[in-house]
Formats: sequence, C-alpha cells, structure tokens
Amino acid sequence: MIKIENLCKKYGDFSVLENINTEIHKGDVVSIIGPSGCGKSTFIRCLNLLEQPTSGKIFIDGEDILDKNADVCKLRQKMGMVFQSFNLFSHLMIIENIMLGPVDLLKKSRQEAYDEGMELLEMVGLANKAFAYPDELSGGQKQRVAIARTLAMHPDIVLFDEPTSALDPTMVSEVLAVIRKLAAKGMTMMIVTHEMNFAKNVSNRIFFMNDKGIYEDGTPQQIFENPKKPKTKEFIYKIRTFNFTIEDKKFDLYAFNSEIENFLKNQLFDEKRINKVLLVCEEMIYNYIFKSFGDSFSPVEFTLRYSQQKDETTLLYKSELINKSVLSAAEDISRSIVDKSVSSVECDDNTLTVTI
Ligand code: ADP
Ligand code: MG
Repeated sequence: MIKIENLCKKYGDFSVLENINTEIHKGDVVSIIGPSGCGKSTFIRCLNLLEQPTSGKIFIDGEDILDKNADVCKLRQKMGMVFQSFNLFSHLMIIENIMLGPVDLLKKSRQEAYDEGMELLEMVGLANKAFAYPDELSGGQKQRVAIARTLAMHPDIVLFDEPTSALDPTMVSEVLAVIRKLAAKGMTMMIVTHEMNFAKNVSNRIFFMNDKGIYEDGTPQQIFENPKKPKTKEFIYKIRTFNFTIEDKKFDLYAFNSEIENFLKNQLFDEKRINKVLLVCEEMIYNYIFKSFGDSFSPVEFTLRYSQQKDETTLLYKSELINKSVLSAAEDISRSIVDKSVSSVECDDNTLTVTI
C-alpha cells in the first residue's frame, strides 16, 4: 500500500532521516517508538508531505507522491493525520468542524456530510456533543473529535503523532480506546507514541527509530520481549526502569507514588499489585531507611526495575548512609508488613535491594 525507498530528510545541513526503506501493508497498525528527537514526527510528516523529503521515493498504491506530476492534494487526502494538539476551529460547533472537509474538499452535500459526521461522532462516543463548541469539551473529547474529523475524509491510512501526549493522564485511555476500535475494524494506521503498553497491544508491527532511520522493525513480541539490536535493548531496558532521587526527608511522596503508579500501569500491573509495591516502597523509605538515618540524611537514589521474564519487581535504594543497620531499624509491625509482601530484602554496598 505504501512503499518507501531511500527516504532522506535534511534540515539545512542537518540530516534527520537517512535512507529509510520499508513497506506498509493494508491493515497494518505500526507503532513508532524511539527517543525524543530521533525523527519520528519528521518521518510521518514526510509521508503526507507536511515536510518535503530531501530525496527518496514514496509510493502510495504504486503512485510516486514525490513525482512532479502527482496530484498532491488527492494523495494527501488518502492519509489522515491526527496531531498532539487537536486544531479544532473554536468558532465552529463540533459537527461543523467535522463537516468542513467533506463539504469543501470532497464536495459532499451538507446533508450527507452531516449524516456521516453524526455517525462518526456516535462511533467516538460523542454524539451528544455535536452542537457544542470545542471549548466546552475536555482534552480527551477534543482529540476524539479530531479523530472523527480525520475519518470523515475517508483516508486509506491514519497517521497519529503522539495523540495522547498533550492530555491529562485521566483522559489518555478514552482516546486510546477509540484508536483500538479503529484497529479492530482493520484501519491501516501509523502511531507515534510513548504509551508502550498500548503500542504492544494494538500493533502488529513496531518501528524502533534511532540512528536516523528505522533501527529495528519487528512484531511487538520481538521488540518488547526479545529485541535483537543493542540500542533497542538499551531503550527497552530503560523503559522497564524507573528512577527517582529522594533529596530530603520531606520529599513529595504523593508525586513519587503517582510516578510509580504510572510506570507500573505501563508494565500492565493491576491495582492490587501496584498498591503492594507502593506499600513496600513507603515502608522501606520511612520505617527502614529514614529510621536508620536517625537525624542525619544523605540523598537516596531509588530505582525500580521490572523484569518480565522473571515476573519480578526489584526496588533499589542507594545512599552513602545505607548500611546493614537498615535491616534491623524497622519495628516489628513494619517488618511483618514487608516480610509478607516481598520475596527478599538484602543490603550490600550502600544499597538496599528488595525483590517483590
Ligand atoms: P521526534 O518526533 O522523534 O521527537 P522530530 O522529528 O521532531 O523528532 O525531530 C528530529 C530532529 O529534527 C530533531 O533534532 C529536531 O530538532 C530536528 N527538527 C525537527 N523539525 C525541524 C525544523 N523544522 N527545522 C530544523 N530542525 C528540525
Ligand atoms: Mg515528535
């Protein structure tokens, strides 16, 4: 359906993409992951010519869209794009936002555009907001409207550039649910995302971008569980690790807990398991470590690591002041709480290691 040959993109002398070669098939759901700045946005923007590639070929259904004689408008309509920011017209009602493209560009009658628009709003769960204005909607609702607006143009493929990054965490899942529904309907999609759990579940292919190109291309199982190349391994290892430095005894425990909670949700932990980890984390910090510190303090580097292979969570606390006395500092009640929840607690080299 889409064939990309030797795609290169430079900004001035600065080369962002070099010799990308790949093919996207009908029904593919490709998630694009990779470190910030590696060219993910540039890549999908080149595909629908929001950025002009420096060289290379992009064929859509056999037609080279970079050919001078190509009908760029028509080709671009085949590719819908959903951005981080929703770009709805604030002076138009939701249904009018959706009707605009079909009426202006596809030359549909207003009635037809309206009927289809209402159907799409139904599909994204927002039929009751058709006559509201964008400002009356939450971020998650606006993004669902933006998806409906894109679908109203009947694209062959939809490109998403971090569709949930600008959203409040509570609204991420409603947008992902809509994308999941589209995947189930067989929509061809390319999705730049940081939501690894989602990428793993929704896609049939993952592109890990690095070194100015698609560094590793594989199934979600391969990329997330058995990456082959070194930089993919390093990236996947990092996303399985959470770091936090505890700077003083009055550190922000709520922020700390909520970051851990988000991290563990991404690792597919259920609520019960998350609460268990949070409980152990807190017990270790206050009733083991701070207690053994007495009146003194030195920063504690906290690392949480999850190994999918062993299905094991490891908590590491590293500090100059941590030594074996930490193991006997806690009162019986704390110790019995911890002992019930963990498989081991060890202390070595200024590091307290807890395995759950
Ligand atoms: P990602 O989406 O993976 O975070 P981008 O595709 O946005 O990365 O950017 C890739 C690189 O290209 C970055 O180093 C960025 O600074 C650079 N870049 C992006 N857009 C432009 C531009 N319009 N002009 C110059 N440099 C750009
Ligand atoms: Mg980007």
